[in-house]
Amino acid sequence: MHPSTLSILLLIISLTLTTIPSAASKPEIIRSDAASLSLGSTDYGNIVHDLPAGVAYPSSEKDVVELIRASHALREPFAVAARGRGHSVRGQAMAGGGVVVDMAALGKGKKGRIRIDLEGMYADVGGEQLWVDVLKEAAAVGVAPVSWTDYVYLSVGGTLSNAGISGQAFVHGPQISNVVELDVITGKGEFMTCSSTRNPELFFGVLGGLGQFGIITRARIVLDKAPTRVKWAKLLYSDFTTFTVDQEHLISNNASNYVEGFIVTNENAASDWTSSSPSRKAEVAALLKKQGVLYSIEFVKYYDNYTAATIDQEFDTLLKELKYMSGYNATTDASFVEFINRLGDLDNGTPPLPSHPWLNLFIPKSSIVEFNAGVLAGMLPKLNDPKLNETFGIFIFYPFNRNKWDDRMTAVVPDEEVFYTLAALHTAPQDGYKSIDEFNNEILEFCKSKGLKVKQYLPNIKAKKEWMDHFGTKWETVEKRKAMFDPKNILSPAQRIFN
Ligand SMILES: Cc1cc2nc3c(=O)[nH]c(=O)nc-3n(C[C@H](O)[C@H](O)[C@H](O)COP(=O)(O)OP(=O)(O)OC[C@H]3O[C@@H](n4cnc5c(N)ncnc54)[C@H](O)[C@@H]3O)c2cc1C
Repeated sequence: MHPSTLSILLLIISLTLTTIPSAASKPEIIRSDAASLSLGSTDYGNIVHDLPAGVAYPSSEKDVVELIRASHALREPFAVAARGRGHSVRGQAMAGGGVVVDMAALGKGKKGRIRIDLEGMYADVGGEQLWVDVLKEAAAVGVAPVSWTDYVYLSVGGTLSNAGISGQAFVHGPQISNVVELDVITGKGEFMTCSSTRNPELFFGVLGGLGQFGIITRARIVLDKAPTRVKWAKLLYSDFTTFTVDQEHLISNNASNYVEGFIVTNENAASDWTSSSPSRKAEVAALLKKQGVLYSIEFVKYYDNYTAATIDQEFDTLLKELKYMSGYNATTDASFVEFINRLGDLDNGTPPLPSHPWLNLFIPKSSIVEFNAGVLAGMLPKLNDPKLNETFGIFIFYPFNRNKWDDRMTAVVPDEEVFYTLAALHTAPQDGYKSIDEFNNEILEFCKSKGLKVKQYLPNIKAKKEWMDHFGTKWETVEKRKAMFDPKNILSPAQRIFN
């Protein structure tokens, strides 16, 4: 569509979408001022910057319905993308030449967008709400969601459009496994309530659906009684097999409440164990020199007033079952809220902001030894070379139980009962991400050449053929649901699946 036609159209829409009758206080729902265009073309990745024609600031679900209907009515519709918190890293919430919907506007100045039901043990939460706010409101009345992300300044609609994973997923499944009902506005502008029994195609489609089938405006999230405190251990390993055997032990016996792991590629990343011990510092340096990487497990056990008397003993029993490097055990005690919100808000940077060319993979258990040799030990240490432009990197590696994932949902995982994630969370200067992208591509090429059946999480895929491979046997269902709920390919075009 010609840009001027779109501008006129946007103007008309912004007038008709007005919900406040008084002309004097009429809010502009779609804006194309510099600040709005900057918001709509920026994300955490700082790699893709695709300008929309305008940004919509809806004050109600009805505004979103009307926006999408206006597009859907056109012979050449314009793109519409929900922007939760813009914490994608490859422009996935952008809509070049179309309209980005600033979801935060839906909740602005409103109370009651997080409603806790203690009888039903669920929270009804606006799709725009941040998980950190759900945490605070729920914990204040002694309850909490059971499945989290490591970082909680993400929107509910944004993580549910991917999966939402962290160290609790082995026992509870990802966040998408802990949602029982949704309100969704489809790509035809229909407002629909859905669950596993009511409009199930939409429900399962939207969960992990990369924004392709509708915009989530409410999610009913499962709650449990909240613990008050956690015991938190970080253990160091020099041997990969011992590390993964212990991780799998921890996810099989449900004795812990959270299990993750990290790949340690330099001495800085080992400071939890070495900062107060020169001899350990020297030992870690020697091991890193010899084998390139070390491995660490982070696990947590929740407790409250009722279990406070026994927690130390239970925790020690669990520690004794694990074969970490002797003495390399750092233990802390924290409140539950401090633990879940351990990373704080990472969005306070000042320009020039770095880029985050991240790669997230799921790896079947049967491939992890080869993956370790080729990628974890074989490639990650190379990032210490300044030529690769990595200014800071975190490498997370931990297992899941597949039976906690629901195959009817759009999210894709490997076809094995236990699979691992590698989150290669790179930071590079804004103009330095290309060397990291090449590095990421080498990882993908290695997996392909060895026939390792890895899947991308938060996928960064461009070609249709690759999307078909990614979805595998789910591709037909994805196409069918797209035709049902967004036949004109209006929604979240920057995922580049259908656009
Ligand atoms: C610092 C950091 C830490 C992270 N940690 C984790 C982690 O531990 N675990 C994990 O699983 N992920 C993690 N992520 C990834 C994160 O879950 C995704 O990037 C997620 O999309 C971010 O949510 P958002 O609200 O910013 O979404 P956005 O980036 O705004 O949107 C993501 C996609 O979802 C669509 N979308 C957004 N809102 C809606 C909605 N309401 N309805 C339908 N579609 C919508 C968008 O159009 C876009 O396609 C992390 C990201 C960052 C930057």
